[in-house]
Amino acid sequence: MPDSQNQLLYIDGDFIEPDSGEWFESVNPYTGKAWTKIPRGTKPDVDRAVAAAREAVFEGEWSTLTQTERGKYLFQLADNLESRAADHAEMEVRNNGKPIREMRSQHEAIPDWFRYYAGLADKISGDTAPVHKPDKHVYTMKEPVGVVGAITPWNSPLMLATWKVAPALAAGNAVVLKPDEKTSVSALSFAEAVDEVGIPEGVVNIVTGYGPEAGEAIVQHNGVDKISFTGGSDTGSYIAGEAAKTFKRTSMELGGKSPNIVFPDADLENAINGALSAIFTSVGQSCSAGSRLLLHEDIHDPVIDAMVEKTAEIDMGNPLDNETEMGPIAFDDQFETVQSYVETAIDEGATLATGGNAVSVDDCPRFFEPTILTDVDNNDTVAQEEIFGPVVSVIRFGSEEEAIQIANDIDFGLAGAVWTENMRRAHRVSSAIRAGRIWVNNYGNSSYAAPQGGYKQSGWGRENGTEGIEEYLETKTVWVELNDKTENVFE
Ligand code: NAD
Repeated sequence: MPDSQNQLLYIDGDFIEPDSGEWFESVNPYTGKAWTKIPRGTKPDVDRAVAAAREAVFEGEWSTLTQTERGKYLFQLADNLESRAADHAEMEVRNNGKPIREMRSQHEAIPDWFRYYAGLADKISGDTAPVHKPDKHVYTMKEPVGVVGAITPWNSPLMLATWKVAPALAAGNAVVLKPDEKTSVSALSFAEAVDEVGIPEGVVNIVTGYGPEAGEAIVQHNGVDKISFTGGSDTGSYIAGEAAKTFKRTSMELGGKSPNIVFPDADLENAINGALSAIFTSVGQSCSAGSRLLLHEDIHDPVIDAMVEKTAEIDMGNPLDNETEMGPIAFDDQFETVQSYVETAIDEGATLATGGNAVSVDDCPRFFEPTILTDVDNNDTVAQEEIFGPVVSVIRFGSEEEAIQIANDIDFGLAGAVWTENMRRAHRVSSAIRAGRIWVNNYGNSSYAAPQGGYKQSGWGRENGTEGIEEYLETKTVWVELNDKTENVFE
């Protein structure tokens, strides 16, 4: 860290104070205490960062490197991040209160994301086109989009930034990253890693600050070629509209309300464990949380009984303890949102099978009991809206057709899961659900090698895998005349 109290922006290879001369506090959700200060980046900082990024990507050393040399930088960055993984995991826990064991596994995986894209850097190539006109050699080139504005949320801060920065750099772009204002510290430490491995100045710039200030300045900037956004659907919709004014390329990783469907022929023990981890991992603060649990009527009651029993065993406590399975809810406004959704559910006729209450653990008032709501109708508010907390809405179904109809009767399409021992059914239902990622007899897995993204209002574009790098490339087509003399250009 450049300074344990006042953090610094990273622009054009320098750690600098924000133009505003202002910092705001980063508060630890578990202790309720501020632990560091984040620079309030504003438009002048974004202007500097974008200018540096344009210079780097179109004129600087970065633009002259071979693709293999670019990849080598990313391999070095991966090694550096590996040495920081333990520190970064702790930072994230102080940022958003998620359990250390989850954050540790994310940060142990981040270096491999960089290695995967480092390896892909020199596999990017164009093609030849067998055009219908004679004597022409036509080929395509894959070129970086240019300057990428990456805007990320608070729930898995550096992991979600990695999913953008790693492929963007491998494709030859420069990046201006704005992490969420509440969870920015890991991105500033990432800047140190970038600096230590000597990635040329201007290639990576970190501008912290508020969404409507620093974020909006990036989205509206003429010098930014692409916005890669992860966050809520309302924010995404607004950003997509702003970006469209200057025809920026966009990719949108947005919210979800994923159906987790358990058929009567499932291995119920696996399905029950899967349903619990689908919603209570990360205190439900995950875009792909299994927040709609669809249970077949024949197994509904025994599955709920078992879930209620197991829920009572979930360890809530200090998120820095290895044993803790659920920490506090990250922020006060998020906490109030969760509470009010539970009240709405009960008003609309749902039954509280377990949970539903705020609890104080170790004097921290921001814990919320793992909550299971039964008798939910798919039209109810808690079935249709993203809660982003430890609350699962359970919906009964009677047939495969009905399960598919309920699963798809929603504006979101981020993910879903199917639990069954019948492989024909597993593939049928996977194919029928309109969502970007389906798990069969497992829940929540992701990998650098497997693309993911949203259907419908969960967004567009894909992250991870080879498709992830395509988001950061333009295709140029070159027509070459093979005849020494062309006869009639007006033909
Ligand atoms: P958010 O939309 O409030 O904020 C996300 C980012 O956008 C932050 O950096 C914020 O500062 C910035 N922002 C806000 N207003 C802006 C504006 N006017 N212009 C530019 N930037 C602006 O989201 P959040 O509450 O931080 O995150 C939770 C949401 O993210 C949930 O809906 C969740 O489902 C979604 N999410 C999606 C994925 C995915 O991969 N699909 C992953 C994680 C989270």
